[in-house]
Amino acid sequence: MQISSIPATAADWHRLADGYSYETRMFIDGALCDAAEGGRYESVNPATGRVIAAMSAGTQVDVDRAVAAARRAFRAGVWSRLAPRGRMDVLLRFADLIAAHAADFALLDSVEMGKTVSGMLGFDIPSAVANIRFAAEAIDKVEGAVTATARSALHYTLRQPLGVVGLIVPWNYPMLMASWKLGPALAMGNSVVLKPAQQSGMSAVLLARLFAEAGGPAGVFNVVNGSGARAGQALARHMDVDKIGFTGSVPVGGLMMRYAGESNLKHVTTECGGKSPQVILADCDLDRAVDNAVHGIYSNQGEVCAAGSRIMVERAIHEEFLQRFIDRTAALYRPGDPLDPACGMGPLVDDRQHRTVCGYIARGLEEGARLAMGGGAPEGLEEGFYVAPTLFTEAHNDMTIAQEEIFGPVGVVMPIDDMEQGLELANSSIFGLGASVWTGDLARAHRFARDVESGMVWVNTFFDQDPTAPWGGVKQSGNGRDKCREALNQYSQIKSVWVHLGD
Ligand code: NAP
Ligand code: MG
Repeated sequence: MQISSIPATAADWHRLADGYSYETRMFIDGALCDAAEGGRYESVNPATGRVIAAMSAGTQVDVDRAVAAARRAFRAGVWSRLAPRGRMDVLLRFADLIAAHAADFALLDSVEMGKTVSGMLGFDIPSAVANIRFAAEAIDKVEGAVTATARSALHYTLRQPLGVVGLIVPWNYPMLMASWKLGPALAMGNSVVLKPAQQSGMSAVLLARLFAEAGGPAGVFNVVNGSGARAGQALARHMDVDKIGFTGSVPVGGLMMRYAGESNLKHVTTECGGKSPQVILADCDLDRAVDNAVHGIYSNQGEVCAAGSRIMVERAIHEEFLQRFIDRTAALYRPGDPLDPACGMGPLVDDRQHRTVCGYIARGLEEGARLAMGGGAPEGLEEGFYVAPTLFTEAHNDMTIAQEEIFGPVGVVMPIDDMEQGLELANSSIFGLGASVWTGDLARAHRFARDVESGMVWVNTFFDQDPTAPWGGVKQSGNGRDKCREALNQYSQIKSVWVHLGD
């Protein structure tokens, strides 16, 4: 499976893609296996619309087997009770192996979901490696506490793993979203069952194989591919799963909470959608603001939970902003072949997402917004699920395109009178994942950061992230926090121990 060097040209990547041996099996209890009931689903390359492979489609039987293997490994203590530094060594080797397989990961996530190889090599893979390393390095820094009880007792707390954790992740950053959850879940000693999205199941299996190669014991990290409705639901309703760590849409996040309530009250953390506002004020550094607004909505084809899809611009600079935005988009985002290292924008993930995004574009026009750019398939790319970078102006915050998550390359620009109006519109949303403010006025920036209803705030910047910084939202954007020390807490629980010392 390992490609020794990174292909240099689009032709090299295509040669590799054409001759690659795509793994269609799942990974349960330390071994590759097909679905017990023999089901399959097609993995389609969205750049061409052609089928790449017939993937194993897991069902309840496979989930039961994976959960049983995970529970066995957990009870046996092969991972959960391994010395903290032992887990650290394995996870650090795991991170090294991910880095060494960069070309494989770039290829798999590109051919399955349309991600550019440049994006994979420049962002997803290094970020995944950094996040696994962060979790590994934190393992021996986790502490309990001795609390201030009466002299007659010693009371202390132990931070312990939850047990068997189900991880359900989306397709927009396949191996990266998985790594955000795997790092802390494994670091704390849990066993995991990962259910990737159907559009992007291959890189998950490679992650599990590399964990085993790094010395991870059998049963600790399992992957069950298959549909959300069958494999995902079986996992989220399982009576022997202690937690679901979920990233995906708001409606499915809601189902996770319902399934937990209807089964065993398992813990649920959700990272759901967003409609992040970028509030751009007249006293900002306009060049920087424009570039970040362009990247904020068009990177990863706009299929980003925190995409800066509501762009609010102070009237005094509105016209200039629009002109510069359109020029910079033309220079930075030309859709093309995602396997071309020079390409910065690929197709949307699948036919369905393509229809959804085109439906929102039609709705924007119906509701009276003006199409300033894009609006359909880019010229010459009628094959594959492409949408050109699209921008609506003359929009209002109550339009569908300003309220619902489009999850595609569609920005909505709204003029505002001042920061107060920007803040009010920013908070008029069911979502609260990311937000940014662009201004030279320090006090104004901090007021915005304090008052905006959002899990993450960027001041004169956008999308900055780091393993040390929590990632997650408020309101319907979810209740979880990925990355940072907080994530370790979310994959563990605290136990209270009393020892009677005598009077
Ligand atoms: P999705 O449709 O909600 O699916 C997410 C995952 O849930 C997939 O693995 C899916 O499997 C599974 N699933 C679907 N129905 C299920 C069910 N009834 N029971 C159990 N599992 C089920 O989301 P998506 O379309 O893959 O991803 C896009 C969404 O993810 C967007 O809303 C985006 O904002 C959000 N997202 C959020 C963050 C964040 O950090 N907040 C990060 C990335 C993405 P199938 O694919 O097989 O249906
Ligand atoms: Mg889906």
